[in-house]
Amino acid sequence: MAVSVVLYTADLRLHDHPPLRAASAGGRQVVPLFVRDRGVSDAGFAVPNRLAFLADCLRDLDAGLRERGGHLVVRCGDVVEEVCRVAAEADADEVHMAADVSGYANRRERRLRRALAADGRQLRVHDTVTTVVAPGALTPAASDHFAVFTPYFRHWSAQQPRDALGAPRSVRVPDGIASERLPSRAALSGVSAGLAVGGEAAARKRLGAWLRSGLAQYAERHDDLAGDATSRLSPHLHFGTLSPVELAHRVRGAGGSGAEAFVRQLAWRDFHRQVLAARPAAAGADYRTRHDRWRSGRAAEEDVEAWRAGRTGYPVIDAAMRQLRHEGWMHNRGRLLTASFLTKTLYIDWRVGARHFLDLLVDGDVADNQLNWQWVAGTGTDTRPGRVLNPVAQGRRHDPGGAYVRRWVPELAGVAGAAVHEPWKLRGADRAGASAYPDPIVDLADGRARFAQARSQGGTAL
Ligand code: FAD
Repeated sequence: MAVSVVLYTADLRLHDHPPLRAASAGGRQVVPLFVRDRGVSDAGFAVPNRLAFLADCLRDLDAGLRERGGHLVVRCGDVVEEVCRVAAEADADEVHMAADVSGYANRRERRLRRALAADGRQLRVHDTVTTVVAPGALTPAASDHFAVFTPYFRHWSAQQPRDALGAPRSVRVPDGIASERLPSRAALSGVSAGLAVGGEAAARKRLGAWLRSGLAQYAERHDDLAGDATSRLSPHLHFGTLSPVELAHRVRGAGGSGAEAFVRQLAWRDFHRQVLAARPAAAGADYRTRHDRWRSGRAAEEDVEAWRAGRTGYPVIDAAMRQLRHEGWMHNRGRLLTASFLTKTLYIDWRVGARHFLDLLVDGDVADNQLNWQWVAGTGTDTRPGRVLNPVAQGRRHDPGGAYVRRWVPELAGVAGAAVHEPWKLRGADRAGASAYPDPIVDLADGRARFAQARSQGGTAL
């Protein structure tokens, strides 16, 4: 009996899964394999929130496979060694997996291909498992990738994605392939109290609810901080419990301005992946070098600490940073504001902020996180790298009633309306009630001037 291995990575689902479909074609047996990859932990990527969500995903994937007569095989160690070992134990002649874009994923794929070939086995890598359009499928005339989103989006929109595949009815797994116990969320410490539940079942439930009652208003409400009117599908897209191809089809099928605006966000995801695929170093180095001499030293460290703790004295910034800690997730507008505040108003290296986000975000993703940070810092693909977001004006605009701030900053819970965005202007009883809230750590005009000066000097000599 011919056997294939399916190596699951960031594609933890049964619906619309081209590697699983190809691996089981012609009635072949399949070993669905997940390796708890030592390389990922060594790179500091195995953080509690994502490990907890991952544990949910693996349990749910195993349950889905069991309903179909199979089960998930989990191993732990070096991913290449473990895949080769399982392929040998199962006498599999091929291994299927999803394409990925980071430098780490590239090295993993090259090593795996070589090691399998040495044993006479084949690696088959599938595109459009974790993206709608494959990185590299679209290129402008004079470059290997698009550096600006708008033209990329024009080409992206003209593509017809492949059809979405259903989940298999049955999966036949050969006997006798040992598996480690599935990890459990309960065994982990340091997990955010409000972390979402992982797994394909949760993803599909969330998708259904979003299509029924969120998508139609997305264009008007996606920046409404208090309304929480975005899909919250990002962790599911990150772990692949939801297929971006299926999502794009279903959203387009719903139609309307909400669908148009939402699909544009999915294109941003693909955009960042094609940038990272072409420039893997952008995960850690400026995409456009500006030769910044970012602030460092004691005062800078204190500012970073206040930013991390949500105690900058700017309510919308602090609310967003506290949401991040409590939920392992932050609203996109909050991400834009907190990143602009750190990199521009405080003039701190974008890598410091990106690392903190990766330590907490359940959807923390090399492509989306590092390239969005660079976009905000002005070292990435933003065509207006000098813009600085004002947290007071932005708070008044995107949290006009102040409910988002009051939800996350209890020191200001007694302050009514938009006045909550400028607590330093409060008087009398309001001021006394907010006394536990810190004063601003920086004057916005001073921060803006410092950043303008740094830019004008090519980022040097502060
Ligand atoms: P929705 O508004 O419902 O959007 C739907 C989907 O579109 C998202 O789930 C996401 O997959 C995609 N999307 C939306 N905006 C973007 C964007 N700017 N870039 C890429 N994809 C996008 N997103 C991550 O998935 N992981 C990260 O690590 C991450 N880090 C970020 C860091 C910063 C500084 C900024 C400014 C943005 C970051 N984003 C990241 C993008 C965006 O903030 C999140 O995808 C979004 O907030 C997730 O919430 P949602 O699913 O409700 O989004």
